[in-house]
Amino acid sequence: MTDKARTYGFETLLIHGGLEPGPAGATTVPIVQSSSFAHATAEDLEDIFRGRKIGQVYTRVGNPTTESLEKRLAVLEGGQSAVATASGMAAITTAVMAIVRAGDEILSSSSLFGGTFSLFRDTLSAYGITTRFVDPTDLEAVKAGINEKTRLIFLETIGNPKMDVPDIPAVAQLAREAGIPLMVDATVTTPYLATGKDLGADIVVHSTSKFINGTGSAIGGAIIDVGRFNWQSAKFPHFELFFKKYRGFAFTARVRKLIHKDFGACAAPMNSFLLSEGIETLALRMERHCSNALKLAQFLQLQPKVAWVNYPGLADNPYHQAAKKLYGDRFGGVLTFGLADKVAAFSFINGVRLARNLANIGDAKTLVIHPASTICADFGPEEKGLMGVGEEMVRVSTGIENINDIIEDFRLSLDQL
Ligand SMILES: *Cc1c(COP(=O)(O)O)cnc(C)c1O
Repeated sequence: MTDKARTYGFETLLIHGGLEPGPAGATTVPIVQSSSFAHATAEDLEDIFRGRKIGQVYTRVGNPTTESLEKRLAVLEGGQSAVATASGMAAITTAVMAIVRAGDEILSSSSLFGGTFSLFRDTLSAYGITTRFVDPTDLEAVKAGINEKTRLIFLETIGNPKMDVPDIPAVAQLAREAGIPLMVDATVTTPYLATGKDLGADIVVHSTSKFINGTGSAIGGAIIDVGRFNWQSAKFPHFELFFKKYRGFAFTARVRKLIHKDFGACAAPMNSFLLSEGIETLALRMERHCSNALKLAQFLQLQPKVAWVNYPGLADNPYHQAAKKLYGDRFGGVLTFGLADKVAAFSFINGVRLARNLANIGDAKTLVIHPASTICADFGPEEKGLMGVGEEMVRVSTGIENINDIIEDFRLSLDQL
């Protein structure tokens, strides 16, 4: 955000960027809990439907609370526009389906959130869309995976739960050379670690249910259009009409006016309000998530019962240099570690008192889970291997509690193993 005199820093943008004053001077965005919006005349409503006039019609297509959230999210990623959705999976499905058609291919990281892996491999394949999975940290493999049918490269900024850190600017360069967009899922890093624009992504998707919400109080997703990709291309004839009318906003227009409208996975106004509240404290929380995760990882590394710790912030982690290059000294709040076996992992989870055993990340509270038997339970050994999920592994989303209490909770549980 810039005003006439100043350009603001990230922490200031979180509070003020894209936020208009509310009615009667309200400092928060009003929750407009209305499914539909009345207009004075038939002519007015026709003008809105035909795009000659701006106005709200129906909450599946647009809502003032959600629109305010979208403006804030676009600012955070250095993007030009955003569409908020019902969930992170809704954001990924909607954004991907706006780009690919039957016969097209997606080149995706093999290290993915389970829902995304299943969407690509099981659901989209039934509609004639093929996904090739590659290790996104192997640039030669990425390059070799691109062919004349590829229409999209998809990866996670830090893989959940593999914790791998692809060189996104280098992958972005390969995408540019191939004339196809790069979509990144930045749920684990958030724009606090780096913006989509700085990373060189064309489209950023989020599960805003996680760190952006910050307290586990709402499910949501977002699609942010960085505005860099040129959709006027023989590879994307289905964008032609949108490009003619909306030029650089062709992607957002195709999402909003066609795919999002038709799929209908819209954000609820109450959730948009809660997510908007979360944005304001994102930097403060992420700072603590990052410092607590690093201290917890360092503690775990010294414990004889812990076989390994995977956190890009550790100096001996294979992705440490890659993470440093992209994210400075910030490595996020998620880490994984290994115990002797599944029995030990279960016993550890049953032994913690402060940390909660649940399927989420990004809450203010410390969370633990055994991925192999829960979020990845439907996958076979080969897929689990690709995702870096073993039977002995525990995933931790480090909360923002006092770090001494988190460490003590883990120490006591390790003691009873
Ligand atoms: C949680 C998550 C998703 C899915 O988001 P939902 O809001 O649960 O639908 C997608 N990607 C990543 C990296 C996630 O952690």
